[in-house]
Amino acid sequence: MIEYRTSEEIDEMRPAGQFVGQVLTELSRRAAVGMNLLELDEIAAKMISDRGATSCYVDYHPSFGASPFGKVLCTSVNDAVLHGLPHDYTLADGDMLSLDFACAVDGWVADSAVTVIVGTPRPEDAALIKVTEDALAAGIEAAQPGHKLGDISFAIARVAGKAGLKINTDFGGHGVGRTMHGDPHVPNDGRRGRGLTLRPGLVIAIEPWFLHGTDKIYTDPDGWTLRSRDGSRGAHSEHTIAITEDGPLVLTER
Ligand code: MG
Repeated sequence: MIEYRTSEEIDEMRPAGQFVGQVLTELSRRAAVGMNLLELDEIAAKMISDRGATSCYVDYHPSFGASPFGKVLCTSVNDAVLHGLPHDYTLADGDMLSLDFACAVDGWVADSAVTVIVGTPRPEDAALIKVTEDALAAGIEAAQPGHKLGDISFAIARVAGKAGLKINTDFGGHGVGRTMHGDPHVPNDGRRGRGLTLRPGLVIAIEPWFLHGTDKIYTDPDGWTLRSRDGSRGAHSEHTIAITEDGPLVLTER
């Protein structure tokens, strides 16, 4: 069921968005050569605790998950692109790290992701991150009241297509509200002018993610981390936005 928020409720969602943005800014700054993924998760857990926020991940146990997630942060390195379960890994020069973070503040959820390069970037990795960021910006720009959900999907896919990337539509954006995942699903590919009419009050996460060479993924033996089938690297960019009378409002701005 799709829920629409009043402008007062959207105002109430702002602190969650601001906090998620702050956490990702801090983690991006701390992600350096020699930093362990478990330390990044601990930093995020401390920030959650200090803020009195509630993790959306730690007890998360969907049908496709082997067991509750158990951590507060997704850390996907290199050939991992989504749902990366933090584990005992120390970041090395040139690693590409996607950080995906969602939590609730005062009962409202925000969800956002950013991909960074640790140390010296490979030019092709920096370019892939830019494509996901450009696709996210295009998706947000398309999220105007009166437009269709398919306009967002089309805008994302057009950016990927221009870059020659394939799109996996198994995982995409989603409604955000009192819980992390609600209707509607926001695919990263779709047809212009099709689907749900976007109305003020709709709050969604838009989250393009692409791999260098493939659209095929598999689940790591940890039961969570999704990796590219051919070993190529992936990038992921996500914001939670509200559709307002005045256009899209990014709640998780960094
Ligand atoms: Mg997310």
